[in-house]
Amino acid sequence: MKARALVLREFGKPLRMETIDVKEPGDDEAVLIKVVGAGMCRTDLRLWAGTEPREGFRLPFVLGHENAGVVESVGGKVKGFKPGDRVLVYAIWANWGCRYCRIDKCMQCRDQSIPGQSNYYGGYAEYLYVPDYRYLVKIDIDPVEAAPLADAGLTSYSAVKKAMPYLHPGSTVVVYGVGGLASYTIQYLRRMTPYVTIVAVSRSDEKLKWAEELGAHYAVHPGELGDMVKKLSPEGASVILDFVGNGDSAKAIPLLEPGGAVILVGMEGRDYPIPVFDTVAWQFAVIGSNYGSISEMEEMVRFIRDHGIKSYVERVPLDEDAVNEALNRLREGRVLGRFVITPQGG
Ligand SMILES: [Zn+2]
Repeated sequence: MKARALVLREFGKPLRMETIDVKEPGDDEAVLIKVVGAGMCRTDLRLWAGTEPREGFRLPFVLGHENAGVVESVGGKVKGFKPGDRVLVYAIWANWGCRYCRIDKCMQCRDQSIPGQSNYYGGYAEYLYVPDYRYLVKIDIDPVEAAPLADAGLTSYSAVKKAMPYLHPGSTVVVYGVGGLASYTIQYLRRMTPYVTIVAVSRSDEKLKWAEELGAHYAVHPGELGDMVKKLSPEGASVILDFVGNGDSAKAIPLLEPGGAVILVGMEGRDYPIPVFDTVAWQFAVIGSNYGSISEMEEMVRFIRDHGIKSYVERVPLDEDAVNEALNRLREGRVLGRFVITPQGG
């Protein structure tokens, strides 16, 4: 079928509105989704600029890996989904067969595609082809608000779960970098680990204010973090959730308490200098965290609904000027929460 989409033809140049061909389900397990919300992620910026080359990413391409919408049609072998169902699309389209997939670690699968990043067009379009219904999770919230859950919501959920074994009553936890992921992280921490003190870190006063509104107990500039941690927990912070991931944010590692952990999620820098002496002597853990599992996504969808977690969304119509303007604002960090493209309007 034909669908309108914003197409990337030249790295770093504005996306162009074009009509693309979208594959349709046959006698198979595929599902066609009418895209209601497509979140715009910082990863999209790197793909747009061409600074993050990936296998399976060839121009022209359609970005968008944070997708939610309504089932339009289903293949003959699809079970449990029908037209009209509202769904969130899990972004790691793995093969289900490898040793990692078999233990619910699809994000570690070497044979994976990500819509909008590799092999399949993403959701900056009216319709999205999903090759397997098992990548879908039903939702009962507005798909526009749900879209960022596919990456920002899930990645932060999985990161908080990895942090939990290191947190104890009285812990200080540092949330380094305030953006879409931190907006969920702070809300999760308040509800999942109400016994910890949350310190958010950002260079932007506007984002520090926002972090406090989201539930951070303290919000400080990078240069103030050391004194703040020492005041709250003289032994150090139990966990740093690092949503920046560059040489600047790595400078916070010595602020950990003995046995503390860095959960590294952000990938802004090429290198991440880890202080050898402190890390060995005080037995710090450095844990990479990428997306989450599909069972974590199902758990997160229930948690969001039951605990009133809010998505902070700025709606962007599926329009050339509007989306390119949003990409530029995202690059400059001029957005609180997530831009979500709304191909169906609203
Ligand atoms: Zn696999």
